[in-house]
Amino acid sequence: MCGIVGYVGHRDTKEVILHGLKTLEYRGYDSSGMALMTNGEIIVEKKAGRIQNLEDSMSDKNFASEVGIGHTRWATHGVPSDKNSHPHYSMDKSVAVVHNGIIENYQTLRKELEDKGYVFASDTDTEVISQLVQDMYNGDILDTISKVLKKLEGSYAIGVLHKNHPDELICAREHSPLVIGIGEKENFIASDVSALLKYTKNVYYLEDGDMAVLKTQDIKIFDKEKNPIEREKKSIEWNLEQATKCGYPHFMLKEIFEQPQVVEETFNKRVHNEKADFSDILSYEDIKHIDKIYIVACGTAYHAGLQGQFALQKIAKLNSATDIASEFRYNDPFIDNKTMVIFVSQSGETSDTLAALKEAKKKGALTVAITNVVGSTISREADKTIYTMAGPEIAVASTKAYLTQITIFYLLALYIAELRNSISKDEYKKYISEIKNMPEKIQHILDNSEIIKPAAEYFKDKTSGFYIGRGLDYKIAVEGSLKIKEVSYIHTEAFASGELKHGTIALIEEGIPVVVIATQRELIDKSVSNIKEVKARGAYVISVGFEDCENLKNVSDNFIGIPECDDIFSGFLSIIPLQLLAYYTSSAKGIDVDKPRNLAKSVTVE
Ligand code: GLU
Repeated sequence: MCGIVGYVGHRDTKEVILHGLKTLEYRGYDSSGMALMTNGEIIVEKKAGRIQNLEDSMSDKNFASEVGIGHTRWATHGVPSDKNSHPHYSMDKSVAVVHNGIIENYQTLRKELEDKGYVFASDTDTEVISQLVQDMYNGDILDTISKVLKKLEGSYAIGVLHKNHPDELICAREHSPLVIGIGEKENFIASDVSALLKYTKNVYYLEDGDMAVLKTQDIKIFDKEKNPIEREKKSIEWNLEQATKCGYPHFMLKEIFEQPQVVEETFNKRVHNEKADFSDILSYEDIKHIDKIYIVACGTAYHAGLQGQFALQKIAKLNSATDIASEFRYNDPFIDNKTMVIFVSQSGETSDTLAALKEAKKKGALTVAITNVVGSTISREADKTIYTMAGPEIAVASTKAYLTQITIFYLLALYIAELRNSISKDEYKKYISEIKNMPEKIQHILDNSEIIKPAAEYFKDKTSGFYIGRGLDYKIAVEGSLKIKEVSYIHTEAFASGELKHGTIALIEEGIPVVVIATQRELIDKSVSNIKEVKARGAYVISVGFEDCENLKNVSDNFIGIPECDDIFSGFLSIIPLQLLAYYTSSAKGIDVDKPRNLAKSVTVE
């Protein structure tokens, strides 16, 4: 959660930090602030609310400054307010700190400091860091910070300014992401690379336990014991255009419309000579003995995992199960060296997923990450990493990353099926061509996106609704329901259609929207019966099915057709109208679609 940015160099530091904060705003947006080193003093400006508030309050303030840090917050300790916003000064204002993460032992540390006479200005856990730096300062800032860090328990990425070191920006990380941007006579830090793309594509990804001191012309990285270390210089492939809206009113809409392209790119990256190819990551030796696969993830990535499980069972014929990352540890999963555990995380920083990954590794599983962010913590921790080719996903509600995760799962299932001889040649060929044709079919739905607007108009004034489906369609229903919850604040629930009669039908009343996903041909009649049951109780039915599915069309109030495909792959298509329904409902309600309340893009706290 939260975004950190820092700069040393010749540009207008205030502007560099504001730009960085705006690109990181999706990570947290309840308040923001910055600290600038100017004339040997540290000036802190911070404001509750959106970054615009900070920008407005600083519009007439121009400080000559070559060093600064900024923060956009997602509160964990202390309500969003001016005083709880970062950066946090130390009591004598010699130190300013921005922090992403949670200091778990902050109460003990705070008590110790208060007993020594320190007065705290905020309710946050973070403030103990700045006060400790003041308290333990010994003239050597690196030594001081390394000693402070040894007292902290929990997770952090921090940026620190100290007034006695006016040309230095000090940073460190432990379980929270931090990347250093390498410039010409200027250097940067950021929680993720999107804040840096405007200035540089060369980066160092810091690892847990790393500290660094940045000056205009110098970057020094150290381990916990202050030994100088080297990190590999990496070049970012993403470009600035990918991280801007390009004329779309919102990132979410842009990202929905990018799906044909990102599915194609993911396909092209992983399919060579009409064969799914992961041989650079997973060899036959790696997987020949695997008898069980767990898929572990959170939120939308978990829903991608449900489809992944479906693909691995149907295509690779492998016993698979999906679990929520925050629950996985408590379920005592049966893991041994014949188990592969796949972890799905767009950002590669999701704390719950990372904790589950560490657990699975301990138990001897083969761990595989599916992530969108090169160099992310999960990508480094896992034995093997498969990257999706979604490009930067900025909207908090995930769309294109989800679809690329699904693309990876289906291709991986085909790759494993072929290696393990569990698929016929004809089927294999047919399935590859089904996936290859998906971008065109997705484009067809997007070209006709207007037809979804009436359903959004209907939904926007409702307070609740239901999503139902059977088989694969149920796995799409859960994601469709989550999407509309996230961005429109309408309470919806997803149910396996068969479960309706076991309780939920009690909630069906006049006018309630019920979204039915019905693409599994053998199950259509059953779905039609379910539609009749809810309609008999007054529901308004919006259905998603294949274009020529007349019997579905006939019983629905609003039918949204998708192009034909083999049932096994319908999830690539049926999710698109549901994403659009969520988007249009949100924008019809005037909600800030890209930054819905209470959420943050990268969930780096448990
Ligand atoms: N725990 C800190 C706070 O509540 C940092 C939260 C964040 O990562 O934004 O201020």
